Amino acid sequence: MNDHQPHQPDRATRLRAAGLKPTASRVAILEILEEDRRHPTAEMVLDTLAGRMPSLSLSTVYANLEAFLQAGMIRRIRGAREKLRVDGTVQDHDHAICRVCGEVFDVPQSLMPRPVGSPFESEEFDFVDLHIEYEVICSSCRERGDGIVSRK
Ligand SMILES: [Zn+2]
Ligand SMILES: [Zn+2]
Repeated sequence: MNDHQPHQPDRATRLRAAGLKPTASRVAILEILEEDRRHPTAEMVLDTLAGRMPSLSLSTVYANLEAFLQAGMIRRIRGAREKLRVDGTVQDHDHAICRVCGEVFDVPQSLMPRPVGSPFESEEFDFVDLHIEYEVICSSCRERGDGIVSRK
């Protein structure tokens, strides 16, 4: 097995640590999320796994993605036009979303300085995280001349 993240515990261990039973489908979905750099939708995950796990259903993929999201193992792409797109990368980075084709790109977080620690003091909330999403026109859409005219 070719593990790209040798510093991380194996997937079954990480699932257990997150309070999730490491079923075969969960381990397989998590593996796809770590390798698929397209920021896949549930449909894309199902497509990728269809040959390997023919009995896997779209609702199982959705349920497991939701479980991973709640456990903080993956991230949701908030500005995606699809119902759900996720990122299995744990390292912090931002996303740029093409307003023409909807493609999601990774952007290093160093481009936009972040507040150190909590940006606000509050009795009401515990500050957890801050996300930045860029709206862009990607190079392929730009080359095709799409998106030149602003939609607004
Ligand atoms: Zn585009
Ligand atoms: Zn990403």
